[in-house]
Parts: sequence; structure tokens; C-alpha cells
Amino acid sequence: MNLVGELHDLILSSTNTVVFTGAGVSTASGIRDFRGKNGIYNDTFQGYRVEELFGIDLFNADPTLFYTWAKDFVYDLDAFQPCTVHNVLARLERAGLIKAVITQNIDRLHTLAGSQRVLEVHGSPSNHHCRTCGASATYDTIAPIVQAGQVPRCACGGVFKPDIVFYGEALPEDIFSQAVTACQEADLMLVLGSSLTVYPAAALPEEAYRCGARIVIVNDSPTALDRRAILKLDDLTDTFTQLCDLLNGSIP
Ligand SMILES: [Zn+2]
Repeated sequence: MNLVGELHDLILSSTNTVVFTGAGVSTASGIRDFRGKNGIYNDTFQGYRVEELFGIDLFNADPTLFYTWAKDFVYDLDAFQPCTVHNVLARLERAGLIKAVITQNIDRLHTLAGSQRVLEVHGSPSNHHCRTCGASATYDTIAPIVQAGQVPRCACGGVFKPDIVFYGEALPEDIFSQAVTACQEADLMLVLGSSLTVYPAAALPEEAYRCGARIVIVNDSPTALDRRAILKLDDLTDTFTQLCDLLNGSIP
């Protein structure tokens, strides 16, 4: 049996599979990753590294910079569709074969593909909160304002910030603790498209391993957990295209 066949059998024979995804699952949807060779973090914008634009202090000092840059990255998500990986994961969840998808991504593509239990440990632009009064506003309300070149402001005059975790901010406590519990209960952990370099999120698959889960890694570069994995594959699109074919014979 080839490696994808082994992956297929592992998924079918496990009772509590949890998935951890990073930017690599969305590159096939056309979304650039952050830290790869052509990653967004290699870009500069008005003299700042893009990484700096996600700093909470800079955002508080001048939200114009972030929103001017984010117009063509965070607020153009409607242009992107889920890819094979997102779709297969949603299908596996519907078949009862996946308990949760933990993602570092902020592109909402797992939800768009139909996954129900998505734990977005780095937050999401689906919602926004006013820095002054705490009022909330949805992506659909905010996106047209940002696309028109304006900083979205609350009725109180405060600035809206997306619920994306910026540098200098804590991870969302409730979501993160749900993710920890999911990892502790998992008997199979699929790590997809993440090089596991960004902590504390990268500690989640380690926690799953520590608690006895078998680890499968599909990523095109090495990760720190590779030597703990019972299966390591490189090409996400190939793997999930083959997996999709195999599933046609085994689940509805
Ligand atoms: Zn307000």
C-alpha cells in the first residue's frame, strides 16, 4: 500500500481525529503564505515590514497603515475559494471522521468549505471590535469600508480592529483551551501545511503527541515533529486528491 493508502486507513480506523492546519493548505486556493520563500512577510509596505503591520502598538498608533495594506490581503477574501484539502476535510467531518480542525489561518476557507468545528487559534477577520467601546461589526460590514480606502470606525468614534491575533496580543483564551482539549483527546493528529514554527500554536500537535495521538504530517518542508510522525508526506494537493479518490470507495 502506498502512503496515501496508509493515511486513508489510519483515518478510517481512528476514533478521534483532529486536524491542525497552516498556511500551506490555502496556497492551492491562491492565498500567499506568510513565512514561505514568496511569503507575505518578505514584503514591505510604506517602509514597514508586513510583519510589523500586524503589531498591536503600531495599529493603535496608526490604524491607517494596516488598513491601507490589508485592503488587498485580508479584505479581498471573497476572491478565494476552498481547495481540495479544505473540501476533503469538510467531507471527513460530515462523515464523522474528524472531530475538529484547528487552524492558524485567518482566511475562513475551512468554514466556507463546510467545516463546522473550526478552532481559529490566530483569530479571524469574521468579526471586529471597537478599540474604544467594544462594539462588534462583521467582515461584511467592514470590508467595503476598507476597500473604499477608509479606516472603519464605530459610532462612538473608536477604531474597529479585526479579531485577528496581532503581535503583542494573547491568543483567544477560550478557543485555545478548546484546541488543547481536542489535542489531548485525539488518537490521530493530522498536521497539514504548517512548518510548526509559530508558538504557542505549534505546541498543539506536540500536546497531542504527548497525550498518545499518532501523528501524520503533510508539509513540503521539514518540521520539528517529523521524527515523531508515523507518516510524513510532502505534497498536500497530491495527497488529498488521491485521498479523495480512496474515500469515494469507503464513505458516502
Ligand atoms: Zn465604539
